[in-house]
Amino acid sequence: LEDTEKFTFQTEISRLMSLIINSLYKTREIFLRELISNASDALDKIRFMALTDSSALAHNSKLSISIAADPESKTITITDTGIGMTREQLKQNLGTIAKSGTSEFLAKVEGSKDGDVNQIGQFGVGFYSVFLVADKVTVASKSNDDEDQYVWSSQAVDDFVIAKDPRGNTLGRGTQITLHLKEDAEEFLNENALRDLVTKYSEFINFPIYLWSSHEEEVAKEATEKEEDDEIVEESLEEEDEESTKKEEEEVEKVTVFDWERINTQKPIWMRNAKEVEEDEYVEFYRAIAKEPSATPISWTHVKGEGDTEYRSIMYIPPKVDPNFFQNLAEKAHNVRLFVKRVFITDEFELFPKWLSFLKGIVDADDLPLNVSRETLQQHRALRTISKHLVKKALDMFQQLAKDNEEKYGQFFKEYGSALKYGAIESNTHRKKIAGLLRFSSSYDPTSPGVSLDSYISRMKGSQSSIFYLSGMSVEEIEQSPFLERLLARGYEVLYLTEPIDEMLIQNMPGYNGKMFANVAKGDLKFGDEEELDEQLDEDYDELQAWLKTTLADEIDKVVLSKRLTTSPMAIVAADFGLTGHMERLMAAQGQ
Ligand code: ADP
Ligand code: MG
Repeated sequence: LEDTEKFTFQTEISRLMSLIINSLYKTREIFLRELISNASDALDKIRFMALTDSSALAHNSKLSISIAADPESKTITITDTGIGMTREQLKQNLGTIAKSGTSEFLAKVEGSKDGDVNQIGQFGVGFYSVFLVADKVTVASKSNDDEDQYVWSSQAVDDFVIAKDPRGNTLGRGTQITLHLKEDAEEFLNENALRDLVTKYSEFINFPIYLWSSHEEEVAKEATEKEEDDEIVEESLEEEDEESTKKEEEEVEKVTVFDWERINTQKPIWMRNAKEVEEDEYVEFYRAIAKEPSATPISWTHVKGEGDTEYRSIMYIPPKVDPNFFQNLAEKAHNVRLFVKRVFITDEFELFPKWLSFLKGIVDADDLPLNVSRETLQQHRALRTISKHLVKKALDMFQQLAKDNEEKYGQFFKEYGSALKYGAIESNTHRKKIAGLLRFSSSYDPTSPGVSLDSYISRMKGSQSSIFYLSGMSVEEIEQSPFLERLLARGYEVLYLTEPIDEMLIQNMPGYNGKMFANVAKGDLKFGDEEELDEQLDEDYDELQAWLKTTLADEIDKVVLSKRLTTSPMAIVAADFGLTGHMERLMAAQGQ
């Protein structure tokens, strides 16, 4: 072939491929989801380009995906009119440059007996799932940026070749992937099985998907054939002549006709009326956009914004917090996909403040200009309005969840409680509302971190003016604290703050609903119902106090007779303006 060049797969990709091709996974059909997803991405890209460059679609203005099986050659072909790949891109994207997720995915699949390949798409190596079902794959592609159409081809071994396509430019623009199915994967040639799969994976794709499919059609028999038939009839059924002639006039023939059948016809789920969308559909949509094929979101909200600016949105609370959520706060999350009038624009933008950036979903805005750069878009007034509106909607969703389903709310708070606390620290606008969503452990029920500030306040004693709290590394540690006794003995409830972020939270949120926070481990604690310290008591312990003061002169500021303790003989407390023991340890841990 003209211009043929051979390349070696990058080592990890090669390992990934042999792992995929040599194993018997249960969920092999996911290759189709990955190919449809790639085709859809490629179509998104060319459509986005066409917004600012009308010549982008010159070679083909139709944006679609077509899928065909050929039982004779045992191939499945999937063709898109997307952005296509240049020769260089074929080489880089399909084999020589490993994505960062490759090794992570390898470890995951190698580590598990069952080897769940289902999540391959999350790791940015979905393409290689073709080797679940094929032992030879060719990718023909034509990009606007390359003069010629090129073919990439691999037999699932260590190397692949790229050559100029001997057929010339057959695609105009786009990509055509041909899978030569393994012998044990020929089930995918079955048209009905294939249709079921394509249907399943097409649901949330915003481009038409066509399947080459057959159907029976009744056609009138050809005149010549009829004559032949007539002769036979005349020969054999002379008596029934009259009747059969009558039949002949209506005689039709069933023939198998092949045609492109459009598989997905639904409008985007977010454009539908929320009342008409089933729970299952929301879950499936989450799975599709988050690329988490078996996850179930904790909750979601489907918003139709009208008035200032028109938009639609579906926002989800993912089932698990990203383990790197706090480390990656400086990075842009790719959690929200932005559309403008159904056209995908980008997922590289910031819709939410950092503390809320764990939400995943889509926004489709009507009032954003289609032809501005992504950078300008970010600053656009309409987008900022939408953002503000959606922050409120998200907080409403959390509140609703807390009201409707305590257990689910507990699950939510376990994952995202720290993020909310971070929000209460950051957001002046929403601090109060977020504070209402926080949950703590407390002496009221030490086993479950389910106490809200409102419920604490509702149980406060008449004379009590502060919300008492103690910080520590764990509930167990706090329960050992000598400071606790006196309050519990007097029937006060104490919040147990066990998270590193809690100290910062209290510093930024000194009170809630008119009640100030009071650290039980600090200085002079006011109960609100205390009498003057018994002077007699002071006198009684005068000597002990003097002795302690001289003996511990280097360690302590002062000695006071405390009313806080009931069973412990004494405690060392921090001064009002000093650091608490917990804070000192935190700072020590941070090397300060
Ligand atoms: P991901 O889709 O997560 O980037 P894949 O392994 O599925 O990872 O695809 C690798 C890359 O190959 C894509 O990022 C894209 O650049 C390119 N690619 C794959 N399929 C197509 C296609 N149909 N059209 C254009 N580019 C494609
Ligand atoms: Mg992909």
